[in-house]
Amino acid sequence: MVARKDPVRIRKGKAMADPKGFLTTPREEWPRRPVEERVRDWNEVYVPGALLPIISRQANRCMDCGVPFCHDACPLGNLIPEWNGLVSREDWRAASDRLHATNNFPEFTGRLCPAPCEAGCVLAINQPAVTIKNVEVAIADRAWEEGFAPPRAPERLSGRTVAVVGSGPAGLAAAQQLTRAGHTVAVYERADRIGGLLRYGIPAFKMEKRHLDRRLEQMRAEGTRFRTSTTVGKDVGAEELRARHDAMVIATGATAWRELDVPGRGLAGIQQAMEYLPLADRVCEGDLEVSPLSAAGKHVVIVGGGDTGADCLGTAVREGAASVTQLDIYPQPEAERDADSEPWPTYPKIYRLSAAHEEARDLRTAPAADADARLFAASTLRFTGDANGHVRALHLVEVDERRRPLPDSGRTLPADLVLLALGFSGPDRADGLINQLGLALDARGTIARDEGFATNVPGVYAAGDAARGQSLIVWAIAEGRSVAAAVDRRLTGGASRLPAPIGPYDRPMKV
Ligand SMILES: Cc1cc2nc3c(=O)[nH]c(=O)nc-3n(C[C@H](O)[C@H](O)[C@H](O)COP(=O)(O)OP(=O)(O)OC[C@H]3O[C@@H](n4cnc5c(N)ncnc54)[C@H](O)[C@@H]3O)c2cc1C
Ligand code: SF4
Repeated sequence: MVARKDPVRIRKGKAMADPKGFLTTPREEWPRRPVEERVRDWNEVYVPGALLPIISRQANRCMDCGVPFCHDACPLGNLIPEWNGLVSREDWRAASDRLHATNNFPEFTGRLCPAPCEAGCVLAINQPAVTIKNVEVAIADRAWEEGFAPPRAPERLSGRTVAVVGSGPAGLAAAQQLTRAGHTVAVYERADRIGGLLRYGIPAFKMEKRHLDRRLEQMRAEGTRFRTSTTVGKDVGAEELRARHDAMVIATGATAWRELDVPGRGLAGIQQAMEYLPLADRVCEGDLEVSPLSAAGKHVVIVGGGDTGADCLGTAVREGAASVTQLDIYPQPEAERDADSEPWPTYPKIYRLSAAHEEARDLRTAPAADADARLFAASTLRFTGDANGHVRALHLVEVDERRRPLPDSGRTLPADLVLLALGFSGPDRADGLINQLGLALDARGTIARDEGFATNVPGVYAAGDAARGQSLIVWAIAEGRSVAAAVDRRLTGGASRLPAPIGPYDRPMKV
């Protein structure tokens, strides 16, 4: 029997973390490198090696709740209390097994996820949540270092083949699950490298590409085949591909961007965020010495207050912009959760200072020193340019909650480079894939599918942003795992053992 004073309790035959750890240990996050240092490179913003010494004590803050809301808030159903307990006792191998049981790519989510699990953590009711995301990334990185996540090639091949179109997190998760189930899987990708937005879009300072490359090596060793520079619908007919395979998964993302239809939009120097960000990624990959759209020496204005805009912000700062401003049409959120409108455990819209916002703020000089680089409640009216037709100014007005202009609030910002980060409306239709297959779309313009992720075309399934709409890495992985289970059921006549964490109509909690 365990003595009363023993901080380690036993439940279900397993030792668990100190139930009072949260009373003695304050929340401590993986520290970021100093701003002046990190904006001079493209490496991740965190201090290398600084997470491991603190993480076991942080995991020890977990109360191992009887009803773990963190688990419920995670689209992947991650076994969070279990791996918190294992990390608190430094049992890294078991923690890795439990983490990989529900997540193919925890080193991606551990770096990139906005962590709805932390918003849902029971501790977050009245004090800082457990640093779940940091625990996740610590386990994932340790697993790679120690070789706990070797390739898991199938013991037997089924003789069935699957084409996965699109190599973002949804396509990769589906491909890995189906390969491990014994099917022969080929991933078709229109870009010259694999990874979707993880490769071209998400900046290296949020996640270095080596993490992606390492997983791809693992997938190749397991038997997944990759075909790059192949646009399905153009380079290979969609119907032809369907005829060549037993099943097809469409995971082409939601890459059709939204436009800003205001006077002056046609001026040179006004670019979509996704025209700008991939070029910076190409500099990191060594394809280009300097981005042709580099912000160096320019006054940059980013239209759009979301994460894509923040990625543009961090990129422009690193490229040496003369000034950077991000416009958000919404009013500045409150610092704390509004317990009436967004009660725990929902993911609240609160004022957050991302690493990129911190950089843009800290690099400001007087008189704007310490000011946020964001302008809230700002609506763009028009652009004006110089005699050469190049943008030089952005004219805006402040608006109220109903987007009505406030009197005398007009303002002009210098702008040599304007980046539009207004979100995405659905899958790109220019490649012909949707029409060639005759895929039905839903009211939002994304690919329609039924409860089992099946589209209206027999043998064709859809997952990730292409079907769900613009979302998150964690949802893309969850959909990839679930669509793999659905395809496996079809190919095995219902005998699939692949787990399906979600149904297609599960929606994120306002993340
Ligand atoms: C700039 C930016 C930053 C983001 N940052 C984050 C973040 O920090 N955290 C987070 O959780 N989410 C983030 N997101 C959202 C996240 O990246 C997406 O939700 C996720 O990548 C969707 O995965 P997916 O696999 O469905 O599609 P994608 O990642 O978009 O991949 C789709 C792939 O399909 C390929 N493709 C398209 N059509 C064809 C075709 N016809 N033939 C062959 N290939 C094709 C595309 O080239 C692309 O590679 C960000 C999004 C953007 C735009
Ligand atoms: S809700 Fe928070 S404290 Fe409770 S089990 Fe999950 S991580 Fe631990």
